[in-house]
Amino acid sequence: MSIAQERRLVTEIPGPGSLERLDRKKAHVADGVGTTLPVFIVAAGGGVLVDVDGNHLIDLGSGIAVTTVGNAAPAVVRNVQEQVAAFTHTCFMVTPYDGYVDVCAALAELTPGDHAKKSALFNSGAEAVENAVKIARVATGRDAVAVFDHAYHGRTNLTMAMTAKNMPYKNGFGPFAGEVYRAPMSYPLRDGLSGADAAARAIDVLDKQVGAANLACIVIEPIQGEGGFVVPAPGFLPALAAWAKDNGIVFIADEIQSGFCRTGDWFASDHEGVVPDLVTTAKGIAGGLPLAGVTGRADLMDAVHVGGLGGTYGGNPIACAAALGSIEEMRTHALGERAREIGERITARLEALRAEHDVIAEIRGRGAMMAIELCKPGTTEPDPVRTAAISAYCHKAGVVTLTCGTWGNVFRFLPPLSISDALLDEAFDVVAEAFTATA
Ligand SMILES: *Cc1c(COP(=O)(O)O)cnc(C)c1O
Repeated sequence: MSIAQERRLVTEIPGPGSLERLDRKKAHVADGVGTTLPVFIVAAGGGVLVDVDGNHLIDLGSGIAVTTVGNAAPAVVRNVQEQVAAFTHTCFMVTPYDGYVDVCAALAELTPGDHAKKSALFNSGAEAVENAVKIARVATGRDAVAVFDHAYHGRTNLTMAMTAKNMPYKNGFGPFAGEVYRAPMSYPLRDGLSGADAAARAIDVLDKQVGAANLACIVIEPIQGEGGFVVPAPGFLPALAAWAKDNGIVFIADEIQSGFCRTGDWFASDHEGVVPDLVTTAKGIAGGLPLAGVTGRADLMDAVHVGGLGGTYGGNPIACAAALGSIEEMRTHALGERAREIGERITARLEALRAEHDVIAEIRGRGAMMAIELCKPGTTEPDPVRTAAISAYCHKAGVVTLTCGTWGNVFRFLPPLSISDALLDEAFDVVAEAFTATA
């Protein structure tokens, strides 16, 4: 690893080099494109981001769960360099190439279930979600799409309709796509329901307000991402999947954030033995290059007429080479196991923190997808102000933390799985300091 694996601050955060570039950003980049931590990055690897001023920051975000295998992971770099020198694009719909088919074969092997599966590849998570809905509609001849409270599925027109939160994702951007219906999510901290009871509540809403026979698909994140890392109570997902099956509804797991070793299994659905009809993937799939997929039952995938799925860049050869490198890294370094170790390490730190700070209402998540929800002590009233203060402290101290949640009161911890224990410990020392300093 050529980048020193240490936190090293040589200027204020952001430093003078970043501040200068922020002015250029302000001049040339649309204000709508925000940044969480405005330091400009020149190199990254392991668990460290290096900025233009020479500061070394600890990465607890992985570019939002993307660089799961680490930045510039060796097998990804090797595959990309070979591919970019061989050819960069043909458009798979014009003249095909092996990388695309290899990624689809890998997806068939890695996604839950051992039934016959096929895939189609796209550029972004939102595009994968849109295509999964298209496939479900053609396969069922039905229109309605069920989604959940706190869901996040993307920023395109259909996926904005599927995403729950108004600001910043939807405000002013309507009208939204029709035939999207929202059901209550299982949110143990806030509803106290068992998985079975929460599923019964959701099913009742869908049955009475939409009608099972009108539903093309149910789309759900097995562990919610942007919506607050909400982990449904055990039994919720299996009950929904069973109801979908009984009623000819396509069950779609949006594993874009939770997939590819993040939770300690290849996919979060694996944990409860749920076998979705379709799975959407993106983020962690290709070590940072833009790639997304829809994978699922061959009979559903093949319901669409020839030419009905695709796109100019979908399954770009360089992105596919990166995905194959990324999967190789996950296998070689047993990153699922590493995610579980990281999860245990983080959980121990968070338990200690909770014993001292009653603003932490819940610790939740799985593997290297962990979160804490901050509420006014003794209540479930969200505390976004304290969350923002802790976040600002961490950023100034050189630790890249991300928040999420409908109320902006959740810290999500998504370190690259290439991070060392020492760096992880140091990052959580800073998080602990931040809680004390803002108390
Ligand atoms: C990020 C995300 C998306 C959207 O992916 P993009 O690549 O940003 O379009 C969809 N679903 C989930 C669960 C996500 O986390």
